[in-house]
Amino acid sequence: MERKRVMVTGGAGFLGSHLCERLLDYGHEVLCVDNFFTGRKANIAHLLDNPYFEFMRHDVTFPLYVEVDEIYNLACPASPVHYQADPVQTTKTSVHGAINVLGLAKRIRAKVFQASTSEVYGDPDIHPQPETYRGSVNTIGPRACYDEGKRCAETLFFDYHRQHKLRIKVVRIFNTYGPRMHPNDGRVVSNFIVQALKGQPITIYGKGTQTRSFCYVDDLITGFLKMMGTPDSFTGPVNLGNPGEFTIKQLAEMVIKLTGARSKLVYKPLPQDDPLQRCPDITLAKKALKWQPTIALEEGLKRTIDYFEKRLVDERSAVRPAKKPATRSR
Ligand code: NAD
Ligand code: UDP
Ligand code: UDP
Repeated sequence: MERKRVMVTGGAGFLGSHLCERLLDYGHEVLCVDNFFTGRKANIAHLLDNPYFEFMRHDVTFPLYVEVDEIYNLACPASPVHYQADPVQTTKTSVHGAINVLGLAKRIRAKVFQASTSEVYGDPDIHPQPETYRGSVNTIGPRACYDEGKRCAETLFFDYHRQHKLRIKVVRIFNTYGPRMHPNDGRVVSNFIVQALKGQPITIYGKGTQTRSFCYVDDLITGFLKMMGTPDSFTGPVNLGNPGEFTIKQLAEMVIKLTGARSKLVYKPLPQDDPLQRCPDITLAKKALKWQPTIALEEGLKRTIDYFEKRLVDERSAVRPAKKPATRSR
């Protein structure tokens, strides 16, 4: 196998850290670029000793000049709580970040991958969503900074492809979960697991009848690599996600069952523009990438619960007060 130099923006985040790890396992050199907005040093600490891994602290809204063969552009906060905290910065990260990454790819003729999202479909009125569906996004709502930023990034990718003959790969990721999700990032899987493990009430927004389809991280990363390996004529966009669809209430009940928690369900207001349903049509991924998820929700949740359980134990032992030093005799 040919060793490639691969840049991963957002490489210290949840998905990015798994991607860096997998690329290193396959024998590539990895340049991880991140500004730690939502990513963490702990996610990549185990990679720092690897001579083929390099970390660069950098904000992708500023230009960057490096030499690599392939680029995966993942930099962007993904949880609604984080991307709405500084919405202008979110749009800048998606749009200016895409321009810089594409300008870089154009100069060095690198193949470039974009982590787009099911959010480009907004609150969909076609179900499940095929790539041909053009979406239903509220351009002025609180989710627009993310949704429209990602839509514009797709436009930029396809314009650089047509205008500058860039080799592009665009995937639309549906809700993905697994170890290294940030415990406080507000996404539903991490929220429910952390609440259950701490014996706190499980917070369901709305009635919990809204649906999502949850993909385990290892399956998704396999899809990324298969997409990057497709012939240059295949650009996407292609949906990557698990078509198993669950209501949020079903997810809460499954987390309670698997953790053995006694947590109650509490109901909170549904956030504005929260999509009622979401499920990928993965016909194209099956055909073009020969890819489909292999890890069922229950199995993936067990692995994720194990991860958070261990983290909570580590945190508790880290905050345990140190033993009092022996009093010195005067
Ligand atoms: P994450 O928040 O864990 O990772 C995002 C990473 O990008 C973080 O490490 C963050 O510090 C970094 N980042 C943010 N702004 C940056 C900037 N301006 N410059 C450099 N780095 C920056 O989220 P994730 O779940 O790992 O998502 C990764 C990508 O996948 C995102 O682009 C997201 O939109 C996309 N995505 C994820 C999901 C999902 O379910 N996890 C679904 C759809 C799309
Ligand atoms: N860029 C970059 N690294 C490079 C080449 C370009 O970050 O190696 C940035 C550059 O700052 C520019 C953007 O990418 O703002 C778009 O570059 P492009 O060449 O497409 O456009 P132009 O430079 O003509 O605006
Ligand atoms: N949600 C919930 N309780 C939580 C966090 C999220 O009921 O503690 C709901 C949220 O309203 C949405 C779904 O779970 O309907 C998925 O939310 P998430 O933020 O994970 O991602 P989204 O798919 O909305 O981007």
